Amino acid sequence: MLNIDLHCHSNVSDGVLPPAEVAARAAANGVQALALTDHDDVGGLAEAGQVAATLGMAFIPGVEISVTWHGKTVHIVGLRIDPAHPELVTGLQTIRNGRIERARRMGDDLRLSGIDGAYEGAYDYAANKQMVGRTHFARWLVDRGHAPDIRTAFRRYLTPGHPGYVEHEWTTLENAVGWIRASGGMAVIAHPGRYPFDAREQHRLLDAFRALGGEGIEVITGSHHPSEYGKWADLARAFGLKASRGADFHAPGEGVDIGRLPALPHFCQPVWQGWPELQQLSLDAA
Ligand code: AMP
Ligand code: MN
Ligand code: MN
Ligand code: MN
Repeated sequence: MLNIDLHCHSNVSDGVLPPAEVAARAAANGVQALALTDHDDVGGLAEAGQVAATLGMAFIPGVEISVTWHGKTVHIVGLRIDPAHPELVTGLQTIRNGRIERARRMGDDLRLSGIDGAYEGAYDYAANKQMVGRTHFARWLVDRGHAPDIRTAFRRYLTPGHPGYVEHEWTTLENAVGWIRASGGMAVIAHPGRYPFDAREQHRLLDAFRALGGEGIEVITGSHHPSEYGKWADLARAFGLKASRGADFHAPGEGVDIGRLPALPHFCQPVWQGWPELQQLSLDAA
């Protein structure tokens, strides 16, 4: 089997490694084709792509776009995008513009619960100052002893109903899929099992996404428990969507490492079927 990982983060968003080190780590872990998918920013793609090329690894330009759908946050991954496409570039900039203001409100909220300096702390932890996110707050909260680990920091402070969580309107599903497609890319629903939707809403999301021209969903992801793989593989098939695979790597020691995931179930149609970047790999593997 080819080791293909189509979802990971660098410090251009909420990962900790610079793009070059993400690509090097992927190659060291045996990944043969990698997509870097930073949140709402394509600034790491050139660097990661150059390193991938020197290491003989196929590289897929990607992005993970923050969307609000039916009042909840959903992430849409774009694969094989053109990072210079004006519609995509402008759209992603509008999303980033809202992030600093949201981070300030998160900091204000935490201050009201007796935690001072969270905004400044998270801002300091973000290598890309346009991309301050909840993960930067989580790392700061852990380092300051407010939570024993990232997961607990999210549970106590950074999720709906808790003191550091503020409502925020991201872009629409239509915009995200539209920008990805305009730039020549393929839209994929990230970690579909992570959203707080019931079965009815899940089906509505898949239908709406398909109607807009979305083509895939992640089946094997670091965010799915292995017991969920079968369900999402079945739903991909039932809704005529292709299946993707990606660790959603953010940092060494945090969650799943790049390329360290099981293969797609055999009956899935992979998103990468027919991609020219993989042709040489398939020949080599044959
Ligand atoms: P943001 O886009 O700033 O709202 O941050 C979202 C990011 O927070 C996701 O991409 C994950 O990296 C991280 N995240 C969300 N929920 C959790 C959780 N329960 N545990 C750990 N990380 C999480
Ligand atoms: Mn993230
Ligand atoms: Mn995500
Ligand atoms: Mn992600």
